[in-house]
Amino acid sequence: MKTLDSIRFVLVGTTHPGNIGAAARAMKTMGISNLHLVEPLHFPSADATARASGADDLLASAVVHDNLQSAIEGCHQVYGMSARLRHLPVPVVDPRQAVEQIQQYQDGAQVAIVFGREHSGLSNEELDRCQNLINIPANEAYSSLNLAAAVQVFAYELKMSFNPEIKVGRIGEDREAIDAKDLEHLYSHFEESLMAIGFLDPQNPKNLMRRLRRLFNRADLDRNELQILHGILRAAEKSKGEF
Ligand code: SAH
Repeated sequence: MKTLDSIRFVLVGTTHPGNIGAAARAMKTMGISNLHLVEPLHFPSADATARASGADDLLASAVVHDNLQSAIEGCHQVYGMSARLRHLPVPVVDPRQAVEQIQQYQDGAQVAIVFGREHSGLSNEELDRCQNLINIPANEAYSSLNLAAAVQVFAYELKMSFNPEIKVGRIGEDREAIDAKDLEHLYSHFEESLMAIGFLDPQNPKNLMRRLRRLFNRADLDRNELQILHGILRAAEKSKGEF
């Protein structure tokens, strides 16, 4: 099973120790604990501990490196977080797309998310070590988030991608899935009933059935909802017959 343990957050060259503490707190609130620091200017530091609040355990277990290469060793994929969209031949995704990709990797595959310095971000050489860039599509006129705020945004998306049960529309325990045959049956029932009640003119069908298909294909119907729709169609046919 894929877990958050295989994902590490790497902070490169952080200048303000307070930001390291705030980043640790942001990570811990989302259940992420692998923190790696590359050449932090001041660490350990009382400022970092103060800003971490109750997340100082992450600071205690943080691994400090003297270069990025050592922090990403053994990683299957390395993502660089970048506030600026440089013209680099590297794919750029937003956090939601990145976490979707991460969910596709094999279980146990190590992934690094690399964050840059407060003033200058990541250097070109550091960016060269990233296979993908992640950009938080912020205000175009003011797009640079505080380091810990960027950590928080990404950590939240990552956590959400590990919570499939709260995704809207998923088939859960009380939603029985239907298949393509069930849908085809529904569409033929619609076609017959709509003709029977005079809504669909077989001489001039326009795109009605195609549009209904599009509507119900989007709707992610479950068995219960399918039965309700069949029931409504039967009732419409019956009431038509009674007039
Ligand atoms: N002035 C720097 C921004 C540094 S902000 C620059 O222009 O690059 C510190 C770090 O937070 C960045 O290196 C990046 O890792 C992350 N960050 C801030 N805003 C971001 C955004 N909009 N998208 C992605 N990462 C961002």
